[in-house]
Amino acid sequence: MKNLIRKSVEAMDGYVPGEQPKGEGVIKLNTNENPWLCSPEVRDILNEIDIAELAKYPDPLCTEVRKVIAEKHEVGLANTFAGNGSDEILALCIRAFCERDGSVGYFDPSYSLYPVLAQIEEIETKPVALDENFEWQMPKGYKASVFFLTNPNAPTGMLFPKVKVEAFIKTFSGVVVIDEAYVDFARESCMEFATKYDNVLVARTLSKSYALAGIRFGYCVGAKPLIDALHKIKDSYNVSRLTQELARVALIDEETMEAITAAVKGTRGLLTDELKDLGFKVYPSETNFVWAKPPKPGAKKIFEELRGRNIFVRWFDGERTKDCLRITVGTNEQIMALVEALEEILGK
Ligand SMILES: *Cc1c(COP(=O)(O)O)cnc(C)c1O
Repeated sequence: MKNLIRKSVEAMDGYVPGEQPKGEGVIKLNTNENPWLCSPEVRDILNEIDIAELAKYPDPLCTEVRKVIAEKHEVGLANTFAGNGSDEILALCIRAFCERDGSVGYFDPSYSLYPVLAQIEEIETKPVALDENFEWQMPKGYKASVFFLTNPNAPTGMLFPKVKVEAFIKTFSGVVVIDEAYVDFARESCMEFATKYDNVLVARTLSKSYALAGIRFGYCVGAKPLIDALHKIKDSYNVSRLTQELARVALIDEETMEAITAAVKGTRGLLTDELKDLGFKVYPSETNFVWAKPPKPGAKKIFEELRGRNIFVRWFDGERTKDCLRITVGTNEQIMALVEALEEILGK
């Protein structure tokens, strides 16, 4: 049969999202979802939705929710862009800012979606290896069209120093996309660079700190020419009517977001202490997950043993990541169930 698939697509592996196991008694600590309930405003708005409105296309420019974003970050409306999850924005960045012979940069390890997005567009990738402690390391004179800078980083959970980020922005000739998916769990943000420099976009999502991964909403802030380019190439109606409304009220209710992130940070402390007691090396997390190197029998075996007990954490095959586990901060009860299972597996 004639091969109907584009060669580059045929050759690529595709992104592998974390498993979504169903059923009772499953403890899901593998995709960094937030176990806390989102803003109650979201339920109120859902109850008020007039279904006749759903017959109409949504606002292509997401104006009302972007107004809230502009106010939150004290920037102009023209400095904001809304997407169907921040994943959509990352894909658009490659299409908007890379020539065919351009390149996409990111740290290794970081978010494993970036190389996949580059492969789809047949753009060269230029990963930069972090040092042996997963800390910042950037070769002199490094060049790429776009650099995806996850801060705090995933899967390591560590925050890169702001001074390093700013120094890099100043010397880098392409667009720096600072992916701040986890920043609400961190000490500090790089949002100010979005308007201070003309080659920076800062991307955020409601999937983690707002406990709304299911509605698919992300946004970014940056210089108007970059934002305009994204608007030019996006799908006309990239964010659904429902999502625009739900995201708008969730973003206004910062109080709920702050309360649930505080709770996550508390449980993160508990998880960190328990893992250390069990002999794990735990990296300092500024996210809603913890990156940790377990003792014997090692990451892969422990991942499988946990899976057999219906407890799902994330293990990434790969030279830089295979010795560690990424564990989402669940509820205190989930964490204690995990700890009990680990004690059993480790014979403690
Ligand atoms: C979760 C995550 C995203 C995706 O966010 P969505 O808005 O759900 O698409 C982007 N970047 C990183 C680093 C993430 O961990």
